[in-house]
Amino acid sequence: MSKETRSFPGASMTPEGMLYNGALFQPVTEQCDGCSRIRDFEDARYCSSYPRPAAKWSMGTCNFSTHTRVAAAAQAKVNPLKASKRAAKGGR
Ligand code: SF4
Repeated sequence: MSKETRSFPGASMTPEGMLYNGALFQPVTEQCDGCSRIRDFEDARYCSSYPRPAAKWSMGTCNFSTHTRVAAAAQAKVNPLKASKRAAKGGR
């Protein structure tokens, strides 16, 4: 089984884009470079989380991205109550 088959099992190419799970996927954009959600299928790269990357970026930074400050900030979010308890105990 090839890597691309595992990434998008059952996908097929159409003139409009890659058809996968009933959705048409468009190739990733330049802004997606470095994101770990990119997968290869045939001769192009597609997002494994969002069918239309260009539309996602048109509204600002993609919140699914793994290579941007938005993603880093989301991962760094902590529960304020737990942070408060940790601070009270002298932790970080
Ligand atoms: S998650 Fe966002 S940045 Fe990453 S490949 Fe998909 S559309 Fe691009």
